[in-house]
Amino acid sequence: MICLSLTAETFEENLGIIARYRQYIDLLELRADFLGTSACSHLERFPSLTDLPVILTVRRKQDGGAFSGTEADRLRLIAKGLVGGYAYVDLESDLGENQAERIASGKGTRIIRSFHDTRGVPADIPSLLRTLPRTKREIPKAALMCSGSTDLERILHAYAACNDMGKILLGMGDAGFPTRVLTGRLGSLMTYTSAPGTRAAPGHIDPETLSTRYRYRTITGSTRIYGIIGNPVMHTRSPLIHNAGFASLGIDAVYIPFQTDDLEAFFRIADMLPIVGCSVTIPHKEAVLPFLAKQAPDVNAVGACNTMLKTHTGWEGYNTDVQGFLEPLLLRTGTERLARMKATVIGAGGAARAAIYALRSFGVQVLIVNRTREKAEELAKQFGCASAPLSGAYAGIISEFNDIIIQTTSCGMTGHHEENPISEYRFRGTEIAYDIVYSPPVTPFLAQARKAGCMTIGGEEMLTAQGKRQFRLFTGKDLTQEP
Ligand code: NAP
Repeated sequence: MICLSLTAETFEENLGIIARYRQYIDLLELRADFLGTSACSHLERFPSLTDLPVILTVRRKQDGGAFSGTEADRLRLIAKGLVGGYAYVDLESDLGENQAERIASGKGTRIIRSFHDTRGVPADIPSLLRTLPRTKREIPKAALMCSGSTDLERILHAYAACNDMGKILLGMGDAGFPTRVLTGRLGSLMTYTSAPGTRAAPGHIDPETLSTRYRYRTITGSTRIYGIIGNPVMHTRSPLIHNAGFASLGIDAVYIPFQTDDLEAFFRIADMLPIVGCSVTIPHKEAVLPFLAKQAPDVNAVGACNTMLKTHTGWEGYNTDVQGFLEPLLLRTGTERLARMKATVIGAGGAARAAIYALRSFGVQVLIVNRTREKAEELAKQFGCASAPLSGAYAGIISEFNDIIIQTTSCGMTGHHEENPISEYRFRGTEIAYDIVYSPPVTPFLAQARKAGCMTIGGEEMLTAQGKRQFRLFTGKDLTQEP
């Protein structure tokens, strides 16, 4: 079931949000801790204003809520609301016997006995879940802050250990996001969602995205799970590309972001779920190599992997960045012209390696400019290029390799160092300026190049081109529909 948490101040605003998402949701959670005093004074009226079952929740600040009154006030408010006949009430595990519980039992309201940990994941989740309910009718709920891969792994173990009981178990935060999409498959009675900008808890998405992008209702025990690992990873557009492809071709599969800070834990998670194919992004493209049983030639040559497939002999690694990088460039230059060009690559990370390898395979003369000089020198030695540090007189050196200038650092990326890393270089207007960062579509580097009249290529084109190749590796089919 998809539950929509309502966090507006008034009933009217909440009813507007319900109308917006009605087709995607099964039940509502009225978060009365966000309601204004006027709405609180009519709390018992809310269930009669909607045809959906409603959970009444008045969340305390210590549990991530907004209620700032005394505990006695809170219980009085809950008791007053329950007179209206809510389908469920959320009552915390540490509450003693109280009037709200008595009214709930009289009205046939089911109690969700909840435990929240906004700081981490407790040691023994299965025991916690089993001891939460006080009667057979109570539904245990644990919402736990997942701050990394090992937390997610422990929550997944708890699902397996408690698969004989009805429960609500969710990982909060970006690392817990897979639990919000896979609740049905894992065995949680419901997942919570909220309208954008009104997030009731960290990690919520809106019900429309959950239903349309992740096709929540079609996920079953036989749905194939794909994912992307990275840190951070929630900004990535890859779920849009792959999930749209699965939907348009009628493939029973889902593609989910896994925020990963521990690769060993991720590979255990992958075995557990199981995950059958995976994209790899920053900062794991090189670090996954020791986990691969087999590497495609591009992975060996580049020293980085962006696509993994699970086979009966283990994980196979591929690199679709190489061809994905070349495709938009070749569209502008053609193969013969490209081979005669001189290029500067800014950056010396995983993506830079793919770009440099691709350019060198066409005989392009390449200058590598990087913040950490040693990394530029090392790559230059490996691929037969020139190198320079991203300091001092770099602008003059770039002028000697400026038919194409390729920006591969994370500079300019939304939320990162949002600047042009070669701001001292003056574009002439004849360069092809290629930024592989795709969010935002026009980075400061591209904006400066455009102003000078350069032909520009944004990272979106590479993302789509490499994603198409990845999709073919995942499914054996061509991606026919782009999001
Ligand atoms: P990476 O391996 O971590 O490398 C990051 C690079 O950025 C390094 O060269 C690093 O320099 C440099 N850098 C980071 N912060 C910097 C700063 N403040 N100033 C100057 N240089 C800085 O990452 P990656 O995998 O290569 O990815 C890099 C970017 O490309 C990401 O934004 C990623 O999203 C994007 N990307 C896009 C596509 C696509 O399909 N469009 C594909 C792959 C990657 P140091 O060596 O000095 O640390």
